[in-house]
Amino acid sequence: MNTAILTIDDIPSRNTPALVDCLCEKGITAVLFATGQHLEQYPEQAEYAVKHGMIVGNHSYSHPAFSSLTLEEAQREIGKTEKLLDQLYARCGVERKYKPFRFPYGDKGGENKARLQSMLKEYGIHKLDDRHIPYAWWKQNGLDQDIDTFWTFDFAEYRMHSEPTFTKESVWERMHDQNPQSGAVLFAQGHRHILLLHDHEESEALLPGYYRLFIDHLLEGGITFDMPQFLKI
Ligand SMILES: [Zn+2]
Repeated sequence: MNTAILTIDDIPSRNTPALVDCLCEKGITAVLFATGQHLEQYPEQAEYAVKHGMIVGNHSYSHPAFSSLTLEEAQREIGKTEKLLDQLYARCGVERKYKPFRFPYGDKGGENKARLQSMLKEYGIHKLDDRHIPYAWWKQNGLDQDIDTFWTFDFAEYRMHSEPTFTKESVWERMHDQNPQSGAVLFAQGHRHILLLHDHEESEALLPGYYRLFIDHLLEGGITFDMPQFLKI
């Protein structure tokens, strides 16, 4: 068995409904991390995700690097989007069972890290069940203790927008890297992953249906998608 949980950052966009349709078609429940700014910009696209059973989590309000914020600024970033997510679920008439959080850029706040983890706890953020992640570095870096949701594999497809040498083939190479620094080989028996993809209109413009290409490739490679579960903190 080789299983994965799919997480998708930076939603919603104009693409979100098509992306959600693709996930529904394949029977995948993903955790979609939304920024508050995008929730205000594309409210209907966010509603589409919630109404179709996706778990929508908090990815801050304006996508800052948290290590450059004061605690007050961090609180505003988290709190504002918590409120928008409460309103989103209420509009959809769907109970907000889970409240996951992901830091933009995976930046956990530098010297404020411990205080930000406490802040997430105070906001009632849910920790994704990561007890089956098999990589030693996950525990060595304390990721098993953190409340926010990190990842084990990043498609890094967003690099296609800014780096001319980073192409669809580069994503393919990452997927098939048999010796990644993290040791988290994507296609390997007994491996379990938290995958990171992004909902970006720029990627769609460059490579239409990019998410479908990648997801199909994972399925063909024998990866099965787990239903995200959350731990009580
Ligand atoms: Zn992001």
